[in-house]
Amino acid sequence: MESETMIAIVKEKPGPGLTLKRVPVPGEPGPHDVLVKVKRASICGTDLHIYKWDEWSQKRIRPPQIDGHEFTGEVIKVGDNVTTVAVGDSVVAETHIPCQKCLQCKTGKMHICRDMEILGVHRDGVFAEYVLVPEIVLWKVDPSIPLEYASIMEPFGNAIHTALVTDLTGKNVLITGAGPIGAMAVAVAKASGAACVMVSEVKDFRKNLAKKMGADVVIDPLEEDMPARVRSLTNGDGADVLLEMSGSVIAIKQGLDSVTNGGIVSLLGVFPGDLAFDINNLFTFKGLTMYGITGRKMFDTWRIADQLLKSKRVDLSPVVTHTFPAERFEEGFGLMEKGLSGKVILQF
Ligand code: NAD
Ligand code: ZN
Repeated sequence: MESETMIAIVKEKPGPGLTLKRVPVPGEPGPHDVLVKVKRASICGTDLHIYKWDEWSQKRIRPPQIDGHEFTGEVIKVGDNVTTVAVGDSVVAETHIPCQKCLQCKTGKMHICRDMEILGVHRDGVFAEYVLVPEIVLWKVDPSIPLEYASIMEPFGNAIHTALVTDLTGKNVLITGAGPIGAMAVAVAKASGAACVMVSEVKDFRKNLAKKMGADVVIDPLEEDMPARVRSLTNGDGADVLLEMSGSVIAIKQGLDSVTNGGIVSLLGVFPGDLAFDINNLFTFKGLTMYGITGRKMFDTWRIADQLLKSKRVDLSPVVTHTFPAERFEEGFGLMEKGLSGKVILQF
């Protein structure tokens, strides 16, 4: 296979843009590696950062490198010591590759490994016909789950991990930001029995997406006083749980203001820099509990994602707004940048 080539979307050299080109198919799998044929891949906000070549990407990406990390595919070849997947299996993959050596990895917290590598960031990614990954990151996915949904199980896992830090049954849940992940969190909260799911969002396309995913109320904080509206919807109490999924400084301050005393805050959004807020009045004196969320639990979150999709308790169809052949990847990136999409799927 070494001499064969495949189509891939590559960051060829430092600078903006990505290139579709033929590159060699990855070589023979090492003893613990698996060669996967990519069936579907999806574009993440991270890919957009890499495309634009912002400061974050400049510090991390070492071109030439294949981009992409969200995908589903079929096992084509396994290394000699691989035991948990076999040729022909449908798989999805955790994109954070744990070192398996640090304190966190050794104590059941691989998702916060101190030395993790990320697919498509520290090594070649999945926007290609084939990808070589370590066995440890693979999750055998139920083949009845449509490829489009399997491909986005990674960000769906972010939504699940963030939402399920606490029991949502009968709770009033506020989600700030209805990007693809916030929109999927709406469905997770509904499936978990939340009493009222409120979403704050500023872009029309995403406000509609939140509604399609089952949000009870969508609030535009540019048009109304968001904390006041949340209180009026919750008998004057405020939300029991805040899921921060915007990465906006304004949104988290309004979110904290909207949470009831003793409430739970789960933070997924990544902020542009240091965050200044009135921690005394917005957090400490309210007796809040705050969780920081990175990635997905390996593999508790993946199991829940699999079950929610297989049982159809969650319908991700509104979130998958576009599917393009790999050749038209630029259109997908353009729509995402303008906020005119949910998840964009690429076919290889
Ligand atoms: P996204 O950028 O597509 O969605 C963010 C949404 O927030 C957008 O729709 C935007 O219009 C909305 N928004 C912006 N300002 C707002 C405001 N003031 N009030 C309400 N909404 C506002 O991102 P995504 O892919 O859905 O991811 C959500 C967040 O999670 C991002 O910040 C992303 O960087 C972060 N993330 C974190 C992890 C992690 O492991 N911690 C993993 C993936 C993504
Ligand atoms: Zn580790």
